[in-house]
Amino acid sequence: MSNIFGSSASYEVIRRLEIAGHEAVFVGGAVRDHLLGKTAKDIDIATSAEPDEVKAVFNNTIDVGIAHGTVLVIIEQEAIEVTTFRTEGTYTDHRRPDNVHFVKTLREDLLRRDFTINALAMTKCGQIIDLFEGEKDLKERIIRAVGNPTERFHEDALRMLRAVRFSSVLDFDIEAGTLQAIHDNAHQIKYVSIERVKIELDKLFTGVNPLKGLNTLFSSQLGKELSLSTNKTEELKRVLPFRNALEGWAFFATIAGSTPAKLANHFKLSNEERNFIKTVHEIYSKRFISDYTLNDYYVYGLPELKCAEKFYGVSATDSMTRTDLEIEDNKNSLPIQSKQDLVVNGRDLIEWTGLTGGPWTGKWIGKIEQAVLHRKCENTLIDIKDWFMNDFKYEK
Ligand code: ATP
Ligand code: MG
Repeated sequence: MSNIFGSSASYEVIRRLEIAGHEAVFVGGAVRDHLLGKTAKDIDIATSAEPDEVKAVFNNTIDVGIAHGTVLVIIEQEAIEVTTFRTEGTYTDHRRPDNVHFVKTLREDLLRRDFTINALAMTKCGQIIDLFEGEKDLKERIIRAVGNPTERFHEDALRMLRAVRFSSVLDFDIEAGTLQAIHDNAHQIKYVSIERVKIELDKLFTGVNPLKGLNTLFSSQLGKELSLSTNKTEELKRVLPFRNALEGWAFFATIAGSTPAKLANHFKLSNEERNFIKTVHEIYSKRFISDYTLNDYYVYGLPELKCAEKFYGVSATDSMTRTDLEIEDNKNSLPIQSKQDLVVNGRDLIEWTGLTGGPWTGKWIGKIEQAVLHRKCENTLIDIKDWFMNDFKYEK
C-alpha cells in the first residue's frame, strides 16, 4: 500500500479501525492537498466508530473534543485526529451547531462539510470518494459550497471567510452562486468569534494570491464588517506579498487607515503581534520626517524596519527608499547589537572606581552603550575604560 501522506501512523489508525469492524477514511484538507500534489499539514480521519469505540481500539488516546466526536490517537509518536461521522444539528447562532449527531454513513458526514473540494474522502488504498464533484472543482480551481450556499452560511458564517481564505491560499475562484451568497450574507460574520476569524485572516494574508482573497474581502463587505476595509488598493498591490501574517496586520494598522491599538484590541492580537504592528507604525511615521538614525537601526528589529520601509516605499512621493539589503547591512554593521554585546558590565565600573555599586552603574553602562554605538570608543576593555575614566563623574 502506498504511503501517500508520508505518515505510516495514519494508515495504521485506519487499518486497526477496519480490523475492529469500523469504516475509516482520510477526509477534508489532507485529501484535497494530496490531490493538488501538496503535503497536507494535518491529516484528518473520519470513522463510523463512536468515540468510545475509537478509544477501545487504541492504547493511547487523548479526548480533545469528545462532544464533537474527535479523539486524538497517539501512535508511532504521531498524533492523529479521528472524528466520528457526524452531522450537525440546528444552528441558532450562525456559529456553532447546537448539537452534533453521530451518524453511520460517510455520505451524511461529507454533506456537512463546507466546500466540494473539502468534502472528498480517500480510502487507505487511495480510492477517492467524491459525492459532490469535488475533483472536478479541484481541476477547475473553484470553491463551491456543498449544497445551498446561503443555507450553509446561515449555519456557520465563518464559512464565508473560509471561502475567501481558500481563494487566497489556493489561488482558486469562488463559484458565482457561492460568491453571491457571500455578498448577500456578509453581515452575518459578526456572529463568529473573533478568534476563529483571526485564524482565517492569518492564512488569507499569507496565501499564494492574497490580492484575490483581499479583493473579495473588500468587495463583499466582509472587510467592512470586520473593520478591515481600505481604499489604498494601489498601495496594497505594491506591498504584496506579505512576508508573513504580521505584515498583513501591520498593513491595516498603518497604510490602510486603522491604528495599532484599535486593530490589536478588535482582533485580540497577541503581545508579539501587538508590539510588531505598534513598532512598524512608529518607524513608518518617523520615516516621513527623516531617514533612519543609528539609534533607529539599533533599537528596532530587522523585520520591523524592513516592513516599515516597504510600506514607506509605496506611500512616499520620493523614491529614496532603502532596499532590504541596505537595511540589513546598516543594522549588521553597528558596533553592537544590544547591551549584552558590551565587553564591560557594572562590576568593571565598580572595580575601576573603587566605589560601591548602586543605580549609578546602570546609568553609566547606558552612557557607555551610547558611546560605543556612536563610535566614540571601541567595544574593548581598554578603550571603554579610557573613555569612562575620562568622562566619569560620580553623582550621588
Ligand atoms: P487547512 O489546510 O487550513 O487545515 P482544512 O480544509 O483542512 O484546511 P480544517 O479547518 O483543518 O481545514 O478542517 C478540516 C475539514 O473539516 C475541512 O476540509 C472541511 O471538510 C471541514 N470543515 C472545517 N471547518 C468547517 C466549517 N466551518 N464548516 C464545514 N466544514 C468544515
Ligand atoms: Mg486541516
